[in-house]
Amino acid sequence: MVGKLCSKVFGLAFLLLVPGAAGLAQELAIEDAAVYASPEAPLHKHMTIVIHNGVIADAGEHVRIPKGIQRISCQECVVLAGFWNAHVHFMEPKWNDAAHLPAERLTRQLGEMLTHSGFTTVVDTGSDVENTVALRKRIERGEVYGPRIFTAGIPLYPVHALPFYLADVPTEVKAKLGQPETAADAKALVDKNHVAGADILKLFTGSIVRPNQVVPMQVEIARAAAEEEHKNGGLVFSHSSNMEGTKVAIDAGVDVLAHTPEFADEIDRAVLQRMVTQQMTIVPTLKLFSQDSDIAKIRGLDYQFRHLGGRLVYGTDTGFLADYDQSEEFRQLMAAGFTFRDVLDMLTTAPAALFHLSQREGKVMPGMRGDLTILSEDPASGRPEAFTHVLYTIRGGTVIWQADRTTK
Ligand SMILES: [Zn+2]
Repeated sequence: MVGKLCSKVFGLAFLLLVPGAAGLAQELAIEDAAVYASPEAPLHKHMTIVIHNGVIADAGEHVRIPKGIQRISCQECVVLAGFWNAHVHFMEPKWNDAAHLPAERLTRQLGEMLTHSGFTTVVDTGSDVENTVALRKRIERGEVYGPRIFTAGIPLYPVHALPFYLADVPTEVKAKLGQPETAADAKALVDKNHVAGADILKLFTGSIVRPNQVVPMQVEIARAAAEEEHKNGGLVFSHSSNMEGTKVAIDAGVDVLAHTPEFADEIDRAVLQRMVTQQMTIVPTLKLFSQDSDIAKIRGLDYQFRHLGGRLVYGTDTGFLADYDQSEEFRQLMAAGFTFRDVLDMLTTAPAALFHLSQREGKVMPGMRGDLTILSEDPASGRPEAFTHVLYTIRGGTVIWQADRTTK
């Protein structure tokens, strides 16, 4: 079915993507498409969307399209607000020297890792801050096509307790990793990261130093770091690793757990309720745990947390996971009992709310950013894979990725 739809779509309109082309178009019309304006809205057919200066200027059945702007005729498209992935990493060696790599190569790598899945915004929860900021600058200049990037820069770890899986990291990189010994050290490291361009903070409130041993961060240090980040206007993400690390995160005022707690047996309703009361958010990253024997319990925690009133935002640890395919994450979320509307919320409105951006993004309506993810299949089908059948990824009215008709 998808093949048939795609050939129809591509028979009508085709835009040329030229990496390195000067400037971003930001003017675009999508004609005669089916649209979910928000996760709660019904599917509206025969809609035309006009994006002007990167913002949705008009959306409706009878909309005048300004002369001379790019058009995508989209009878078989399902248009959604741009997807977020709130847990990725730009730490694979292929991103090194992002300031000087050829633009075409960076565009291709971003396509393979992120934009082919419809991501218009990603949250990097730990990488070399200078390098990621250099990558972001080239995207923002329009030299490279890619998503908006929020970055945590360099995470903070408990002192003398780097995770065992960083054993192979080169010594000079290890030397950059923050391991504050005091609250004052922690504040200084947070400020240094912020000045370098980090938007959020990532704390390892529990660090897995050996496969069965977790060292927690001292709560005073975690709290000082979190307070400093909040003063700088950023959110605090944590990797907790066990119950003790989760308690440190809760006590320190962390905003987001970067993973579902995978030690599902230790987490009871009272802990989840406390997290809900503190308005904490969880990033499920269920694909990461999909081979665990207790995956059903882990995804059950996400379901319970959301039904207690907790916020979940979509994220997968892509970039730590070298397999970039998103299908398994969608399968796990639906196996947990979430509807396609719940999942759409996690991809759009929930992360926009987390980042205090709900006034300007997360929905497809006038006044919102022209960030759109266009699928060839309506996710109301209940098929998790529908979310992965991306035709166009559009950021601020610019097509930053589109499906290759030769591969469909
Ligand atoms: Zn991660």
